[in-house]
Amino acid sequence: MQIDDSSTQIASALSRLSLFLRSAGWQAAHARGLTPTQAEILAHLARRGPSRPGALAAALGVTPATLSDAAAALVAKGLAVRDRDPADARAVHLRPTQAGKAAAEALSGPPEALDAALHGLAPAEAGALLRSLTGIIRTLQEARAIPVQRMCATCRHFRPHVHADATRPHHCAFVDAAFGDAGLRVDCGDHEEAEGRERARLWARFRDAA
Ligand code: SF4
Repeated sequence: MQIDDSSTQIASALSRLSLFLRSAGWQAAHARGLTPTQAEILAHLARRGPSRPGALAAALGVTPATLSDAAAALVAKGLAVRDRDPADARAVHLRPTQAGKAAAEALSGPPEALDAALHGLAPAEAGALLRSLTGIIRTLQEARAIPVQRMCATCRHFRPHVHADATRPHHCAFVDAAFGDAGLRVDCGDHEEAEGRERARLWARFRDAA
């Protein structure tokens, strides 16, 4: 029997999880009369607030045409409205209505079966998993293979390994609080991208000081 290398096995495991998440997401969105893209737009708007269509398309990794169709459907369903952007009267942004926020809330969180599986992890296991996933996502982001992710590892407020407490070695300067690997965020509303050299320095400290 040929034993595959670990990268093949990890990719296979991620692929299976991705299939499960996509299928569960489709079913949950369908039950509410939404397409997966419409559900993703609502979730993004609920987390981050009003957004311009171009920025939304880039963040979700869809084409402007796909975004435009999905946004028009959300407006027609009363789940989102188009407003003038207060920062630029010539621009339009999309914001969720109360009904849109309620739909996003109902669709948030992992599927029940995955939630149960993740709650079965010990805190150290959850932290190690988040740390590994953070590294993979960051590498893909740096290679421009995926859109920019609003995660601690690239945030100018992140202070990795600055506390002696092994369970909470990191610090978030935005909320002024210590946290551990299990508290790493991969989609934070308060994230502000660090500039290139600082981003590399943060990553080196996070990776090497573990
Ligand atoms: S602001 Fe958010 S992304 Fe940035 S360090 Fe704090 S928790 Fe992490």
